[in-house]
Amino acid sequence: MRKYDAIIIGSGQAGTPLAKKLAEAGYKTALLEREFIGGTCINYGCTPTKTMIASARSAYLSKNSKYLGINTGSISVDFKKIVSRKDKIVRSFRENLETNLIKVKGLDILYGEASFITDKTLKLSSANKKDLLLTADKIFINAGSRPTIPAIKGIETINYLDSTSILDLKEIPEHLIIIGGSYIALEFGQMFRRFGSKITIVERSDQFLSGEDNDVAAELKIILEEEGLNILISSETKSLKKNENGSIIVTLNVKGKAKTIRGSHLLMAVGRTPNSESLNPEAAGLQTDEGRFFKVSNKLQTNIKGIFALGDIKGGPAFTHTSYNDHLVIIKNLLEEKDINIKNRMVPYCMFTDPQLGRIGLNEKQAISKKLKYKVALIKMDRVARAIETGDTRGLIKALVDTKTKQILGASVIGTEGGEIMTVLQMAMMGKVTYEEIRDGVFAHPTYSESLNNLFMTLDSK
Ligand SMILES: Cc1cc2nc3c(=O)[nH]c(=O)nc-3n(C[C@H](O)[C@H](O)[C@H](O)COP(=O)(O)OP(=O)(O)OC[C@H]3O[C@@H](n4cnc5c(N)ncnc54)[C@H](O)[C@@H]3O)c2cc1C
Repeated sequence: MRKYDAIIIGSGQAGTPLAKKLAEAGYKTALLEREFIGGTCINYGCTPTKTMIASARSAYLSKNSKYLGINTGSISVDFKKIVSRKDKIVRSFRENLETNLIKVKGLDILYGEASFITDKTLKLSSANKKDLLLTADKIFINAGSRPTIPAIKGIETINYLDSTSILDLKEIPEHLIIIGGSYIALEFGQMFRRFGSKITIVERSDQFLSGEDNDVAAELKIILEEEGLNILISSETKSLKKNENGSIIVTLNVKGKAKTIRGSHLLMAVGRTPNSESLNPEAAGLQTDEGRFFKVSNKLQTNIKGIFALGDIKGGPAFTHTSYNDHLVIIKNLLEEKDINIKNRMVPYCMFTDPQLGRIGLNEKQAISKKLKYKVALIKMDRVARAIETGDTRGLIKALVDTKTKQILGASVIGTEGGEIMTVLQMAMMGKVTYEEIRDGVFAHPTYSESLNNLFMTLDSK
C-alpha cells in the first residue's frame, strides 16, 4: 500500500494544476490518469475543435472574399493537413503539460484505471502491471465525462461517430447527420459544412437552443441556415439503420409523423455522461445523483469527508474554465485558509460557431423566471462600425440591466469575437460598473467594444 497526503483521480482541467500546487506546497501527491495528461479539453475537446474550426473559417473567408474585392479562384480543402495540424497542436499542448508535471517534486504521475476500495483506499489497474493499492486522507475526483450514447433502436447496427472519433475522420463526410442541437453539434456542423459536407441537425426540442432567449436563438439559426445547415426541430430520433450501400437511414418522429432521412455519417451529440461508474463509488459510500454525477457541497466536498469532486463529474455547467476554477476553490480553502465557494460564481460561456455566441449572467428568460425588474439594451451588428468595416454584420448584442442599480445582469453576444465582447461586459459585472458608465465611457475607435456606448444609448428613451 502506497501512502500519500493527496490523491487526484484524473488529469483534467482541475486535477492537473491541483496536483502541481499540492505537491509544491509539500503534500506527497499522486496523480492517477488512465489515458492522456490534460483530459478532454486538450485531447478531445476545446483544443482540437478550435484548431479545426480555424481551418473551417479560413475556407469560409476564402470562399466569401469577393465582396471585399478579393478574387481567390476555386479553393480546395486539404483535410489530411487540417487533421495533422490539429494532432500536432494537441500533442504539443499535452507534451508541454507532461514535461512541466514530471519536474514537480513530491508528485507521482501514475497511469492506470483508478477505483475505490474504501473511502481512503484506491486500486490502480493497468494492463501488464500488477494492481497498485494507494491510500490518502484527501482524494480529489476529476475524472470528467464522455459522450452520451442513447439507446436508440438499431444503434448497434451502424458505425456512428461521437465528439472524439469524429476528430480522427480520414474523409470529409458527404452528408453528416448530427443528433443533438447543442454547442458541440453546432460547432461540428458548421465546421464540416465549411469543409464541404451536407449537414442535417436533428433537435428533439421544439425550440432551437432552448436555453437561450428566442430572439438570440432565432438570429443564430438564420445565420447557420444561410450557410446551408439543415436544422430540424421537434424531431425525435426513433431508429437507425444501415442501408445496403453503407449509408445510414434515420427515422424521425416529427410531431407525430414519421420522417426518414439518409446520410453518409452520423454524429451523436446529445450530451455527456460522467465517468463515475468505473470508479466504484459505492465502495467509498459516495452519493451520486440520478445522472450519476457526484453530489457536492458549495466547497466541492462529496458526502464523504475528505473526498472532493471537481469539473464535469460533479454536474452543472461543464466547461474548462469552471473545472479550472474548481481547483482554485480547493487550493484557496486548503492552502490559503480562505473561505471560497462556487455558489454565486459567474459562469460565462462561448459557443465557437462563427459568429460566436458569448453568454454571461442572466438572459431574459431567466430574468423573467426570477421576476426581476430589468431593461433590455439591444443592437444588431449592422449598427456596429467595426462589423461594417470588416464586412461581417451577422449577429447582435443584447444586455439586461437592473432597473434600480443600473448594473448589468447579463448579456448575449452573437458576433465576430462575440466571446471577447461578452468578456468586457463580464468585467463590468465583476466591477459592478453601471450601464451609464459604459454608455459614457471612452473606448478606442473603432473596436467592437466601442459599440457598447451605442448599445446602452438605446436605454436613454426607455
Ligand atoms: C468536443 C468538445 C468541445 C469542447 N469545447 C469546449 C470549449 O470550447 N470551451 C470549454 O470551456 N469547454 C469545452 N468543452 C468541455 C471541456 O472540455 C470540459 O468541460 C473540460 O475538459 C473539463 O473536464 P474535467 O476537468 O472535468 O475532466 P476531463 O478533462 O474530462 O479529464 C478527466 C480525466 O480523467 C481521466 N479518468 C477518467 N476516469 C478515470 C479513472 N477511473 N482512473 C484514472 N483516470 C480517469 C480521463 O482519462 C481524463 O483524462 C468541450 C468538450 C468537448 C467534448
